[in-house]
Amino acid sequence: MTNANTLAEADRAAILERLRVVIAEQIAPNARRYDESGEFPADNFAALGRAGLMGLYIPTAYGGLGGDHRLYSEVIRRLAKACASTAMLSVMHNTQYSPLVFHGTQRQREFFLPPTARGEWFFANAATEAMSGDSTYAPGAVPHSVLRPNPSGGFLLDAQKNIVSGSSHARWVFLACREESDSKGAKRAIFAPGLGHGAVKAFGEWNTIGMRATSSTGLDYRGCEIPDWHIFEPDLPLGQSLLPIGILGFCSVWIGIAAAACEATIAHVAGRSIELIQSERRAGGESALVPVHSTVARFESVQRQVSEMRVRVDAASALVDDLAQAMDRSRPQPGESIPTDVFERIVDRCLSSRVGTSETAIDVCRVGMRVCGARALQRGGLPLERLMRDALTAQVMGPTEDALKVRYGRRLLGLE
Ligand SMILES: Cc1cc2nc3c(=O)[nH]c(=O)nc-3n(C[C@H](O)[C@H](O)[C@H](O)COP(=O)(O)OP(=O)(O)OC[C@H]3O[C@@H](n4cnc5c(N)ncnc54)[C@H](O)[C@@H]3O)c2cc1C
Repeated sequence: MTNANTLAEADRAAILERLRVVIAEQIAPNARRYDESGEFPADNFAALGRAGLMGLYIPTAYGGLGGDHRLYSEVIRRLAKACASTAMLSVMHNTQYSPLVFHGTQRQREFFLPPTARGEWFFANAATEAMSGDSTYAPGAVPHSVLRPNPSGGFLLDAQKNIVSGSSHARWVFLACREESDSKGAKRAIFAPGLGHGAVKAFGEWNTIGMRATSSTGLDYRGCEIPDWHIFEPDLPLGQSLLPIGILGFCSVWIGIAAAACEATIAHVAGRSIELIQSERRAGGESALVPVHSTVARFESVQRQVSEMRVRVDAASALVDDLAQAMDRSRPQPGESIPTDVFERIVDRCLSSRVGTSETAIDVCRVGMRVCGARALQRGGLPLERLMRDALTAQVMGPTEDALKVRYGRRLLGLE
């Protein structure tokens, strides 16, 4: 059945088929190379752009796919199975332009959305600051980054954002700041230019063990000019798109990683031949040593652990399917907002899905590495060690797992 907020099944299937080809021909074969180099996977995004897959949420009137949350989650899961860094960058991109789709002015939508849908512009997020870390979720905390009036019109931005995924290629960066003159420190959301435009400079390095190809180095915005109309009006409910779309995306990345770890483990144990030499009693009471050919899949401990891995993946996937469907049922039309009680229920689902899926990804990778033995530890062999390294970032991505658990616990206990 199709409602106003969901895609026709034939359209969904056609989009996923285009994605399958890009993953098979470009993204999967290059995952290891990008993990090793830690470079932004520019070729992957060029291929996604050519296939018309860079504007999942952008309305068809602006050249996008007009996709729903279910499609987005499925796309991110499939990307993450092949290359988690590419999937995470896609989450950042689709999340950061989404406020334009739901709350942008006509001028903003006409300017930003068509080139983005054509794959010409990549969007990034700049929330984290060296001094305030995960401040987005610290009650009452406001950004260090400030806007002040520019004598020649518009504003000047002073900001240093130390972790920005895709900072080297982003054309636009959705950035949280405040006005210098506002003593209450109300948050303002702006679209700042990317590297190579205006006064923007790069700083820092990104040499992590996981999500290496997100290439999340810092951006220095001291003295950067921002036109008035790149700043969102205050009091718009931007969080109604940013929070659920961001979290649904993260959850989909963790499920993709867990599913890939599960599949890699099954394929490995089913194909890992062993030859056990066993004593066999022959006619006449004599014994002889005979080789018995099998695979490690014959061991009961392996069978049990593989089934446990799969159950964890299925349970986490069901949690996220449920979140995507709930978001589609309550998706607002552009300019509208979601009723508060409905949005609060979505926030609860987001919190439980985010915690559940990140723990699943880490646990499933860890069990897969144990089941596959020493081969799983070899760099460049099985994909498990890369998946494990990528999964570990789940616990520190903002909002961090601990911050979310505290928030969810408080909500369950009626403390907020
Ligand atoms: C792969 C990857 C990509 C990223 N991409 C981006 C990006 O594109 N844009 C961006 O802005 N950021 C990005 N980040 C940064 C990410 O959001 C931060 O790692 C996160 O905000 C935590 O900040 P921090 O690492 O500085 O840790 P810190 O803030 O130093 O936190 C350290 C510890 O304190 C706890 N803590 C901190 N604040 C709170 C709080 N308010 N409540 C409870 N506990 C708290 C944390 O849980 C953590 O255990 C990325 C991170 C990773 C790993």
